[in-house]
Amino acid sequence: MSTPAVERVPFLDLHPMTTEALPAVQRHWADIAESGRFVGGELVERFERDWAAYCGTGHAVGVANGTDALHLSLRALGVGPGDEVVVPANTFVATAEAVVLAGATPRFADVDDDTLLVTPSTVEDALSPRTRAVIAVHLYGQMPDMADILAVTRRAGVPLVEDAAQAQGASWRGVRAGAYGTVGCFSFYPGKNLGAFGDAGAIVTDDAWIAAALRSLRDHGRADGEHVRHVRIGTNSRLDAVQAAVLLAKLPLLDGWNAARRRVAARYAEEFAELPVRTVTEAPGAHGVYHLAVVRVADRDRFRARLAEMGVGTGVHYPTACHEMAPYEAFRTGPLPVAERAAAEIVSLPMFPHLTDEQVRRVVKAVGEACDDH
Ligand SMILES: *Cc1c(COP(=O)(O)O)cnc(C)c1O
Repeated sequence: MSTPAVERVPFLDLHPMTTEALPAVQRHWADIAESGRFVGGELVERFERDWAAYCGTGHAVGVANGTDALHLSLRALGVGPGDEVVVPANTFVATAEAVVLAGATPRFADVDDDTLLVTPSTVEDALSPRTRAVIAVHLYGQMPDMADILAVTRRAGVPLVEDAAQAQGASWRGVRAGAYGTVGCFSFYPGKNLGAFGDAGAIVTDDAWIAAALRSLRDHGRADGEHVRHVRIGTNSRLDAVQAAVLLAKLPLLDGWNAARRRVAARYAEEFAELPVRTVTEAPGAHGVYHLAVVRVADRDRFRARLAEMGVGTGVHYPTACHEMAPYEAFRTGPLPVAERAAAEIVSLPMFPHLTDEQVRRVVKAVGEACDDH
């Protein structure tokens, strides 16, 4: 007989969220099958209305994924070849990828040592006469001081794009992620705080003209409401009705799930206060939604291996700063020391709304023991 397996604490468990949403999803799916409207249609429009209202913006445009949300936003803003777009060095690769897909050049900005987000001065350092947009990424579900960031983009005369792929429901001084920028971009990849049962994304904006351009770009450049008149070169990046149905079913649950994530994050912060692990801090005025619970440790690989032995799953988001990845090295303009150092030290601990008190206790204990053997 084998020894009883240690009960693992997974890094992420989507099952409880899926189960909570499933009855409503199945009712919507039955309606979709009945109507035969699989692409677009009433449920997509309903989700777009609800998502715009949730974010506090005039419009939401559903698209196929978060990368397209960013890429099409840049195109709707007129960004193209010869233009530069400032992006954080510490982000998921899709932020920089979207800039290249739009034909422009990413310019990497370093990040703050406490929040690991861009600051006014790191953005300013990355500006040039060719800058046509700045993308602020609400990484880990955290937002920077948005007044400060907007002051820089306004002075530079360029639009602010929010990459809020990890920050559904986050806010800064009571205004939600996505509502500060000229556009706010979301991914609903299954693992995000609000996740579909597949790929999905959306853009929010108060600008009716940009919303109309995005509706055309996502649908082969069609003129509004006309099936065979194509007025620009677009693509196919529509939001499927089956995914909109999942998002509609989950949206009423999002605030409760985010509150549960914040409770776990508060426990971690409290328990780690005396340990040599450093939690990523919230900017003043920010209400983060902890897509990830990121800590920094001196010997990351050893730390992760010890946690794995004790049955605690971890991740790294992300092990290489964007400007140091081979395909993006051509866009590198110099060292970005804070992002580079952080990439070597960060670890993401288990974080999802249905983590039990017992699971949190086991993570805390394992982290304490991993620190003790130093
Ligand atoms: C997930 C993510 C994206 C890309 O979204 P997809 O839906 O996977 O295309 C972009 N930016 C950030 C910060 C992300 O976390």
